[in-house]
Amino acid sequence: MRSVDDHLAEILATVRTLAPLEVELERSLGTTLAEDVKTPVELPPFDNSAMDGYAVRAADVERAGPDTPVTLPVVEDVAAGDGALYAVGPGLAARIMTGAPMPAGADAVVPVEWTDAGRTSVTISRSAPEGHAIRRAGEDVREGDVVLRAGTLIGAAQLGILAGVGRRRALVRPRPRVVVLSTGAELVEPGLPLGSGQIWDSNSYTLTAAVRESGAEGFRAGVVPDDAAAFLDQLDAQLVRADAVITSGGVSMGAYEPVKEALTPLGTVRFERVAMQPGMPQGFGVVGDDQVPIFALPGNPVSSFVSFMLFVRPALRKMQGLTPDTAMSTVRATTTTGLRSPRGKRSFLRATLGRGPDGGAVVTPVQRQGSHQLAALAAANALVVIPEDVTELPEGVTVDVMPL
Ligand code: AMP
Ligand code: MG
Repeated sequence: MRSVDDHLAEILATVRTLAPLEVELERSLGTTLAEDVKTPVELPPFDNSAMDGYAVRAADVERAGPDTPVTLPVVEDVAAGDGALYAVGPGLAARIMTGAPMPAGADAVVPVEWTDAGRTSVTISRSAPEGHAIRRAGEDVREGDVVLRAGTLIGAAQLGILAGVGRRRALVRPRPRVVVLSTGAELVEPGLPLGSGQIWDSNSYTLTAAVRESGAEGFRAGVVPDDAAAFLDQLDAQLVRADAVITSGGVSMGAYEPVKEALTPLGTVRFERVAMQPGMPQGFGVVGDDQVPIFALPGNPVSSFVSFMLFVRPALRKMQGLTPDTAMSTVRATTTTGLRSPRGKRSFLRATLGRGPDGGAVVTPVQRQGSHQLAALAAANALVVIPEDVTELPEGVTVDVMPL
């Protein structure tokens, strides 16, 4: 049997980071930047008011106080977006709005709350020091500054700064397009009635959703019957739009294993027994002229999900130009019950992770640990990772936990 680490290492050595391409700003969410982005101008581009109030010369309001108010004539009204050139002479004020350019000569903004809000003249009852409530040109970034580095995952704020520096397009690594295929003669689409011996296909939904949660684009290509030729036809049809393919089922030791039967003769996909529970049978390799990576996951619903988390998710991150989280970002928690695990396999027990009475992280395995028990997986929020050489753990020890 092959170790989990060796299997993952082979996968990561095989999958390639996707080539960069230019996309429209709106399409960049969830992609990874493939260039350093600089700002063509300083930001803010001009000195402007941070508040609604009055632009003044600080010296003119120096003595303003509740008992010694200062009254100044209001000479202008300056709104945000106003491109005219204004000036405020000594002893004068301009009414100014947030984001409006500072008039020449003014060196402070008195917030409207410190005044009587007058239109033709304003009475000010509190002094504002020089520079008060002014946002200076270049105080966010200077012209030519790098605002985002290559390798940055574009979320809302990153997309915002692309727009904020005037970008219409960006060079990014796209989100991998991942096609998900279920195999199994017993599978029926949810919503249709079950015949005898049939079950509803859940894997294609779970895996497509897991792909999307990982930041890639998931395409659910539906169910293929247990027939190697039909599987190859469907695979062929789907390859045109795939950066990766995930299949579920048909990879173990039984009689109708269409994925194994169809892919083994190609010589580019290997089927292995990986020392893990759940999820022992695993296939991985490349298919088609473009050498598209294919993950042939086992059919049991919990096995395919755990396999996705361990092997597919890190691979998708690499394809996207991100660091594969191979350590699976585990946390440490204390067990509330004793645990058992098979010798020689790394096991991933479905569990609930929470806080104990003293505030420390505690973890409790769910009752049903069968690899077909999807409801138990859905009730769990974590996997307890038990190393290969450990077969039993008492209550109250610290273990590694992968939050889900
Ligand atoms: P297989 O790996 O094809 O031998 O399937 C192993 C087990 O997982 C069988 O009990 C299948 O019925 C079940 N199974 C396979 N594919 C799916 C699926 N897409 N949704 C739910 N259960 C599945
Ligand atoms: Mg099957």
